[in-house]
Amino acid sequence: MEVILPMIHFLDRSSLGAHVPHRKNTRESSTAVMPVPQKIVLMMSQHIGAPANPVVSKGDKVYVGTLVGEAQGAVSANIHSGVSGTVAEITEMIASNGSMQKAVVITPDGEQTVDPSIQPPKVTDFNSFIEAVRQSGLVGLGGAGFPAAVKLSPKNLDGVDTLLINGAECEPYITSDHREFMERSDDILDGIKAVMKYLNLKQAIIGIEKNKPEAIALMRQKIDTPSITVKVLPSRYPQGAEKTLVESCTKKEVPKGGLPADVGVIVMNVTSVSFLSRYLKTGMPLTKKRLTVDGDIVKEPKNVEVIVGTPFSELIDFCGGLTAEPVKAIQGGPMMGVCLFDLSYPVLKLNNALLVFGEKLGHLPKPSPCIRCGRCINGCPMGLSPVEIASAYQRENKEELAALQIDLCMECGTCTFVCPAKRPVTQTMKLAKDYMKKGGNA
Ligand code: SF4
Ligand code: SF4
Repeated sequence: MEVILPMIHFLDRSSLGAHVPHRKNTRESSTAVMPVPQKIVLMMSQHIGAPANPVVSKGDKVYVGTLVGEAQGAVSANIHSGVSGTVAEITEMIASNGSMQKAVVITPDGEQTVDPSIQPPKVTDFNSFIEAVRQSGLVGLGGAGFPAAVKLSPKNLDGVDTLLINGAECEPYITSDHREFMERSDDILDGIKAVMKYLNLKQAIIGIEKNKPEAIALMRQKIDTPSITVKVLPSRYPQGAEKTLVESCTKKEVPKGGLPADVGVIVMNVTSVSFLSRYLKTGMPLTKKRLTVDGDIVKEPKNVEVIVGTPFSELIDFCGGLTAEPVKAIQGGPMMGVCLFDLSYPVLKLNNALLVFGEKLGHLPKPSPCIRCGRCINGCPMGLSPVEIASAYQRENKEELAALQIDLCMECGTCTFVCPAKRPVTQTMKLAKDYMKKGGNA
């Protein structure tokens, strides 16, 4: 059998990727607070890891902040109600990834009564801090959805000295993290200081792309200690990808299959660390989220703070509705977001955007044959060879796929974006990864 050499070129990742159009149309849009919706639907899996287990029953009275789903296992997260009202049903529904999941449906009473048990957590040391983070239901709010308590307690914590705050927000359209900088800079700094204190970290670096000069200036003005600095990053997609960010900010390369903690770094999203500061002061768990609502057929694009579980259709109504029939709706950005097949689907904690496109922008271009130009190779921030991977996948060649290190693909979408033949390269990467995860069985 022919043995091929892996075409991995570990260049400086900051020079890879692509220049994507920014389209930050809503950057000046102060956050509008959406009223309580007609119902909320709380999916029990809004995070990476095991789904939460419903701990309420039909007919139960719940309040703002009441625990509705309890984390199960080491990697999981609690789910809380963002409304006061009554549990209408515990049901099962198809999630946007096609899996069947449990969901708790709550009918609000409009009173927004806060759960009487809500009080600031008692935090005195690392263990009580991590327990508080666990109770808060916090997951990575930049879109990853990784449970924060797990991320903040790596096995090799003794070797970690740096907190890296991800404020890159490199996907087109999305400005929700930008608004967090502009509207909650004090919370961000308080949250950073809390994490540094309880994890005993020497420094924090806030990474912000250079296309957000207002956020850079504001944070530099607010910082009152030399242990926290702002790193201005190139506006090049995918600058916010964890490994790219670590390399850009610290010049350290996360080893293959490793985590930032392996090079002494913990990465947190800026909205996550800001939420954490408010949670430590109030004890109110994660029940709300800011989303950028944009797209060429959204009547009034804006940033909206919404109660988790609100149907996307109500969120669109709050933004004035649509000007045409939707062709494509995406939760997240156009590069890495997931298509919504049904606008009645609810907002999840990890959502940071809803984009809706009509005829002009919603259709995928027609692919033509690969011209072997290599642009997908030059653009891949992981140094992979997408064109070779696609070929190996077509031939169902497991050995070749393993040698080409398909497992390193972070599904960033760059290869599709740069392909002049408009081929769905990233989609093929996802299929190839899935194929390998299943042991090479299609
Ligand atoms: S989707 Fe995967 S293969 Fe394509 S550019 Fe991103 S990391 Fe590379
Ligand atoms: S960028 Fe597109 S056309 Fe060029 S080699 Fe890659 S898949 Fe082929």
